[in-house]
Amino acid sequence: MQISPLHTWIAAELDQDPNSDLDLVALRALQLERLNRTLAHASANSPFYQNRFQNRQRRPLDSLQGLTELPFTSADDLRQQGLQMLGVSQSAIERVVTLESSGTTGPAKRLYFTGEELARTQAFFRLGMGPYLDPGDRVLILLPGELPASAGNLLATALQPLGVDCQIEGIVIDPGRCVTLLAEEDFDCVVGIPVQVLSVLRHPNVLTIPRDRIKSVFLTSDYVPSALVKEIDKRWGCPAINHYGMTEMALTGGVECRALYGYHLREPHLYFEVIDPVNGRTLPAGETGEVVVTTLTRKGLPLIRYRTGDLASLIDEPCPCGSNLPRLSKLQGRIAQRMNIGAGQQLGIPQLDEALFALPELLNYEAVLTAKNGINCLTLSIESTTGAQQDLLAEVDGCLRDLPAISTALAAGTLCLPATRSCGKPLPVSATIKRSIIDRRKEQLP
Ligand SMILES: [Zn+2]
Repeated sequence: MQISPLHTWIAAELDQDPNSDLDLVALRALQLERLNRTLAHASANSPFYQNRFQNRQRRPLDSLQGLTELPFTSADDLRQQGLQMLGVSQSAIERVVTLESSGTTGPAKRLYFTGEELARTQAFFRLGMGPYLDPGDRVLILLPGELPASAGNLLATALQPLGVDCQIEGIVIDPGRCVTLLAEEDFDCVVGIPVQVLSVLRHPNVLTIPRDRIKSVFLTSDYVPSALVKEIDKRWGCPAINHYGMTEMALTGGVECRALYGYHLREPHLYFEVIDPVNGRTLPAGETGEVVVTTLTRKGLPLIRYRTGDLASLIDEPCPCGSNLPRLSKLQGRIAQRMNIGAGQQLGIPQLDEALFALPELLNYEAVLTAKNGINCLTLSIESTTGAQQDLLAEVDGCLRDLPAISTALAAGTLCLPATRSCGKPLPVSATIKRSIIDRRKEQLP
């Protein structure tokens, strides 16, 4: 198996032999040096951090563990004080990315990047995807690409030096059109959002796409159900590589290797911690908690101990690809999207995805929680390749009832489960991007 390209890259950064285990002590020393530079830069140039660190002694940390003494930053800090967080003048900022998040009021989240930072992101895109691409290959990008700082556009320009031809198709509005494109034209690689790619794979005309034409699929932006990875392998005979990123990480934080077993991380640029989301304590490898990220090379808008809201665990055992670099486990959803359904049980998109997308006819679903007489009520509407077939609806019901969290809550009487219904028409495109269980329990019902 080919070793992760991140192993080779980090070996070069550390001036080590890429053909042997990396000296992780040296990697941590490099991170510490960059962290201390970031702290000094932020304390000197960013009004937000000047204020936040005013009682802190201005001396370098002597270990990465020292970082745990510093306060967290949050999405609210970004929303309310984004401009004060800047460590450079606004004229030095090349791109501003605005994230309007649904369900929250007040100012939008804005991220600011210098040209150098965007160039580093693009270099990382090339690094992660390079081993799967040959000069002359064609890449179909199913990500937003209208704006210069959009993921699709940054990715397409990043890959140009590899001699590949990128077509930015944008998010998938019509899966049939994508199937036709992939059947009639020679694309070697597809980059997209998981449930959108699933809608292409489960389209009735998918068999018109020759098997073995597509050499790799990169999935990003949302939870990746294991049924999708298996189906890409079965249908197209190629790996489905999961990418981890968020705008706060300048879009990219890590990428899987051929082992498809956790993300190798962008460690020379980012330092990752996993914490207990309740008490903020650092968790050991293997324990799932909130991912916290600190930027190590950003001057524009440095983030120090930024709480991502994502759930995952660190993996410190060697990877099957041969690298001894630690990894981050596949994401387990977002903290804000884990719904309490009583009897001590929580439910999120990852559990529903794993249970439901195992059904080959399912294209997407919408899950809504309401409350009736103090009891949680989970209603599912599905979109399928077969329409409203009663046996499929019953199968979905069965899958739900088999989920441990749901069966426990049902038995305890804290949850009721009306029969699954068909959506009738396709769910809106927004329901295929960042999906969550819709919580209407606080709304007044007629
Ligand atoms: Zn690996």
